[in-house]
Amino acid sequence: MGRRLKKIAIFGSTGSIGASTLAVIQRHPDRYAVETLVAHARIDILWAQIQRFHPRQVGVADPVAAQLLRDRLHREIPDADQRPAVIEEADALTALASDSAVDIVVAAIVGTAGLASTWAAIQAGKRVLLANKESLVAAGALMMRTASASGATIIPIDSEHNAIFQCLPVGVPPSSAVEKLILTASGGPFRTLPASDFAHITPEDACRHPNWSMGRKISVDSATMMNKGLEVIEAAWLFGMPPERIEVVVHPESIVHSLVQFVDGSVLAQMGRPDMCTPIAHALAWPDRIESGVENLDLCAVSGLHFEAPDVVRFPCLRLAYEALQLGGVAPLTVSAANEIAVGAFLDGRLSFMQIPMLIEQTLEAVLAEGSAVYNPPDSIDTVLELDKQARAVAVAGINRMKVIGSQVRIPSKQQVVR
Ligand code: NAD
Ligand code: MG
Repeated sequence: MGRRLKKIAIFGSTGSIGASTLAVIQRHPDRYAVETLVAHARIDILWAQIQRFHPRQVGVADPVAAQLLRDRLHREIPDADQRPAVIEEADALTALASDSAVDIVVAAIVGTAGLASTWAAIQAGKRVLLANKESLVAAGALMMRTASASGATIIPIDSEHNAIFQCLPVGVPPSSAVEKLILTASGGPFRTLPASDFAHITPEDACRHPNWSMGRKISVDSATMMNKGLEVIEAAWLFGMPPERIEVVVHPESIVHSLVQFVDGSVLAQMGRPDMCTPIAHALAWPDRIESGVENLDLCAVSGLHFEAPDVVRFPCLRLAYEALQLGGVAPLTVSAANEIAVGAFLDGRLSFMQIPMLIEQTLEAVLAEGSAVYNPPDSIDTVLELDKQARAVAVAGINRMKVIGSQVRIPSKQQVVR
């Protein structure tokens, strides 16, 4: 139909968001072509994606997996012209995000591992579909400043931020008309669990989300409500809002994805089934709309919409994230880095569920005790990555100290490995 195909690079293609993105793209071969896929190591999934989408290049961060994929490509695709290039070296992998052939970069790597490529895409002025909220938490000032200089368009695919993006009038500075942003939270699997039962929570319990199917790290983040805390920080940067004008409301049905309260008393909400294909389709096509494959919401079948205040006593991670946002400087970065270490240790059975917020708080206190420089926001991506590394080291030392103190932690048999 004469429309130029938009070329897409998906960072984190083998994950939950990556899979949903490909599911939407597959419905629109007249609009989108997959140029680049990047993942950590899951070669079986990557292989299937290569066969279906024929990317020109594939990035594999794990060198052993990269070699396995290269071997398989040579074995099964004899014609070299038909084989995608396999890239593994870290800088080359990051550079795939600024490739001039790519129009849209989907930033869907989990955690700090996604920072460098998100940054490269923003710097190169791409349309960036942002799932990797950790990028804005760690380096919000830098990312937003760079986006306005490069002309990059950041469209959130985190469902709450996508909802707010849909409710805000395009081109109007939010501060004048908007009173507050209201982020909804499902409350996670332990919304109604009494505090006395938190000591027995296992990784399997925490990964069993009532409404959304997601990767393990964000599932645990939802269970601790750190996910909502990170999202408050993400919203502050994306929409230029101070913490006191960002509210969290628990909404167990996950039908209202977030709301905007305007100064005249109007409240706009975006609703839909809890399926990431909706925000992904919205962000891919914006300002157009395309079909996402998600079934229509049947309002009469929705038994009710409930809202309640979050409980920051059982879920201290939410409080910690607000405090970090208020403190500014390296505090949000530190909270996010410590959280990633804590969640990795919890999933490995080296930390209890309740020790996750304890470790984050200790790490934040230790980093802030280092001096006044920590109140300045980091001004380069290298500084961000260096500060992240330092915060992780403090968190790892904190785990070892908890072990020595002998609180109910299982003794680790080997040094922790968190990627
Ligand atoms: P996931 O664990 O399912 O997938 C993570 C992806 O990142 C995988 O493809 C993995 O290969 C890749 N990855 C990990 N480390 C890497 C590295 N070092 N180099 C290259 N690739 C690497 O996670 P997910 O649930 O898809 O979440 C991804 C991001 O999206 C997270 O930041 C999460 O907070 C955000 N998000 C997810 C959802 C959701 O519904 N899943 C919703 C909103 C936001
Ligand atoms: Mg979300």
